[in-house]
Amino acid sequence: MQAYDERIAGTVRFIREATHITAFTGAGISTESGIKDFRSPGGIWDRYRIVTFQEFVSDHKARVEYWNMRRELFHELNSARPNRAHKALAALEQMGRLQCLITQNIDGLHYDAGNADIIELHGTNKRAACLSCGKSWPIADIQARLEAGERAPTCDDCNGLIKPATVSFGQAMPEKELMKAAECASSCDLFLMIGSSLKVEPAASIPKMAYQAGAKLVFVNRTETPLDTVASIIFREDAGDVLSRVIERLHS
Ligand SMILES: [Zn+2]
Repeated sequence: MQAYDERIAGTVRFIREATHITAFTGAGISTESGIKDFRSPGGIWDRYRIVTFQEFVSDHKARVEYWNMRRELFHELNSARPNRAHKALAALEQMGRLQCLITQNIDGLHYDAGNADIIELHGTNKRAACLSCGKSWPIADIQARLEAGERAPTCDDCNGLIKPATVSFGQAMPEKELMKAAECASSCDLFLMIGSSLKVEPAASIPKMAYQAGAKLVFVNRTETPLDTVASIIFREDAGDVLSRVIERLHS
């Protein structure tokens, strides 16, 4: 592996030469914001039973259990702030150098950092939506209803079930987002991957599409990924440090 500084310089050169840049982010970009990977020890799924989508829609008790968990987690999930890595991607967009941002995260921190157009493959924790008519609310509105004593809120328009606008276990991925992500990956000439181990679908296939379309790949991830062999530059350093150095260099 080249020296850190050479890899930063190489990434800056790729960004300057690229005409269409796609960024793809996973849990690793948010760890500096204090959000634990849900799957990691101490993460959400380590502390709570997983209520699947099927249970949620078919069983009132499961819905109550799910919303109890969400009510308790509200402040933890909503107190996180964007870190240097999120801010760097927002800066890249403001510079007109980021055409697509795809994320597996539900924390909404890319929006908080200032990115406008984000493909959220697993939905967002910032809102809740009616499963029947699609009406949606800021999650804080639903939290207020839970705190006022509702146990499993339903839609005031159609009486459908309200669920956080995230993709649950057993729930299908949003097709429109998947298609947009595939388009972004196969039409870019530089693909920046930050904070994903690329082990779960569709995370595994999206960078592959970019590679097959001839894009250069830059990976920023703590651990190895199955696609490391096709990446042009790999960083194991902190995403916040890597991306803020890159932006600083782009400005100079
Ligand atoms: Zn409804």
